[in-house]
Order: sequence, then C-alpha cells, then structure tokens
Amino acid sequence: MAKSRFEYVRNYELPDPLMPNTFIVVRIDGRGFHKFSDTHSFEKPNDRRALDLMDMAAKSVMGEYKDVIMAFGESDEYSFLIKRSSKLYNRRRSKINSSIVSLFTSSYVFYWPHFFPNMPLQYPPCFDSRVVLYPGVTELRDYFSWRQADTHINNLYNTTFWALVHGGQSTAEANKTLQGTDSKDKNEILFSQYGINYNNIPEIYRKGSICVREPPSTHASTSKLPIRATIDDIPTSASSSTSSRIPTPNQQSESISINTNKSDE
Ligand code: ATP
Ligand code: ATP
Ligand code: MG
Ligand code: MG
Ligand code: MG
Ligand code: MG
Repeated sequence: MAKSRFEYVRNYELPDPLMPNTFIVVRIDGRGFHKFSDTHSFEKPNDRRALDLMDMAAKSVMGEYKDVIMAFGESDEYSFLIKRSSKLYNRRRSKINSSIVSLFTSSYVFYWPHFFPNMPLQYPPCFDSRVVLYPGVTELRDYFSWRQADTHINNLYNTTFWALVHGGQSTAEANKTLQGTDSKDKNEILFSQYGINYNNIPEIYRKGSICVREPPSTHASTSKLPIRATIDDIPTSASSSTSSRIPTPNQQSESISINTNKSDE
C-alpha cells in the first residue's frame, strides 16, 4: 500500500521496550475507591464481595495472559507478575500496561452483577496502572512482602477504626483515638474493648489474595498442598485451588488457583 503523506507522524510514536530478562510487575489500583466503596455501600472494614470481584477480574487477566504467573491482591489493588523471559507484545511497556488494566477493568464491570446482584453500578469504575521492573528474586520477594505488609497495616487500622465507629464513636473521634497508636495498642483495643482477637480475622483480610499459575507438571499433585502460602512461599509454591463457580468466557483458566483464604466460609 502506498504511504500517505501523513504517515511520517508515526515516527513520533517512540519505542518503549522494557529491559530484557527482568521481572515485570504491573500494579493496578482503583481510582477514588474510597468514594466508590461508599457510593456502592461496601461493608466496612472489608466487603468480601468486592474482594471476590477483584479476584475474579485478576483471574480473567491470568486466563488471557499466560505470561502472568502470579498475582497478589488487596483492597482495590492487584499486582501481576509477568515472567522474566516474557516476549509479550515484544515487551512494549504501554501495550502491556494498558492491555492488562483495560482487561482488568472491563472484567470488573462484566462480573459486577454476579457479586453485587442488588447494587447496580452507579458509575463506571476506573483503575490506574504502572509497570515496575525487578532485576532479581530478592527484590521481587521484597516487593510482594511490601504489598502484604501494607495489607496488614491498613487492615489492622481499618478493623480497629470501624470497631470504634460501630461501637459508637464518630469517625473523627475514632481517628483521634487511633492517633499515635502502634499495632500492639490496636490489638489491645480490639481485644479488651470488643473481644476481637485480630489473629482470628479471616486471612484474606489480613494477608490479601494470591493467585498462582500452577505449572502443568505439578498440577495433579497440588491438591493436598496447604490452603495458605505465606509470602515466603510465593515464588515456588502452588497454593490450593478455590476454583470459582463462575464461567470465564473464552478462557482456559483451570490452571489458575486463587488462594483467597476462604477459611471463614
Ligand atoms: P486513589 O485514587 O489515590 O487510589 P482511593 O480512594 O482509591 O484513592 P486507596 O488508597 O486506593 O484510595 O484505598 C482504597 C479504598 O477503597 C480503601 O481505603 C477503602 O476505603 C476502599 N475499599 C477498597 N476495597 C474495599 C473492600 N473490599 N471493602 C471495603 N472498602 C474497600
Ligand atoms: P490488534 O489487537 O493488533 O489491535 P485488531 O484485530 O484489533 O488487532 P485492528 O488493526 O485494531 O486489529 O483493527 C480492528 C478491526 O476491528 C478492524 O479491522 C475491523 O475488522 C474490526 N472493526 C472495528 N471496528 C469496527 C466497526 N465499527 N465495524 C466493523 N468492524 C470493525
Ligand atoms: Mg491510586
Ligand atoms: Mg485506589
Ligand atoms: Mg489502593
Ligand atoms: Mg485493535
């Protein structure tokens, strides 16, 4: 086909390849989910339906992008780990970044009615996304440990905050009560005032969700693995499957196990 005289503008599209042989992490995060969760009456501190929907959207991404070998989710965020050797989209940063967050978002909307049958979406939710490269396993482990530490810190705070609020304090009072407290203080408030043993709160709230793509060779032998891997187990373990009842259109996602710590069910 003959080139048009306009074609030169293509040269303004600069290549944006990601460094070869590095771990690619794509982290998505809901935009303004503080408000979104209010508008859609999420239960506080943790709405299980919302977490299950996030896990479903993550599963959808893993079903489509086989180079995503693991994912970690908490609150309104999810991190997707793409294998080091990946040639996905020739490792073009914006293609990878935009395709993953787009599929995640559309899946979130697509599956919304299943998880919130009585709550129509009030407006289209939006997620942002970034790509970070990690050179080695050490940094990668520390990355996921960092996200899981964040899950713990936020959840302990939120659990205590909402216990105070449900116990009669205003949100401003609860904020003030918690000012300057450390985790020991929060555990103590929960236990002595509300009879809540923080360690008995479901793991999915305290530690987040982990999705692992099980290597085909180990698939048959994984059914007896412990239900919960700690963060230290992540790179090698295949956690047990809590497979969803919801069909995932056009995808072979049987090999993805989502460990959402359903010990509370
Ligand atoms: P930003 O656009 O900067 O990300 P944000 O309002 O989304 O702002 P985050 O720090 O991402 O802020 O926090 C997400 C918020 O969404 C949480 O603080 C919480 O209020 C709410 N949220 C997300 N998931 C849940 C859930 N499963 N149950 C209850 N609340 C949730
Ligand atoms: P890629 O993932 O590389 O973008 P693609 O299949 O989306 O692949 P495009 O070059 O983006 O390829 O072309 C989009 C194609 O979608 C068109 O070639 C056409 O077949 C189809 N298409 C898009 N919009 C319409 C439309 N409004 N009516 C009919 N066909 C459409
Ligand atoms: Mg954000
Ligand atoms: Mg957010
Ligand atoms: Mg967030
Ligand atoms: Mg296209």
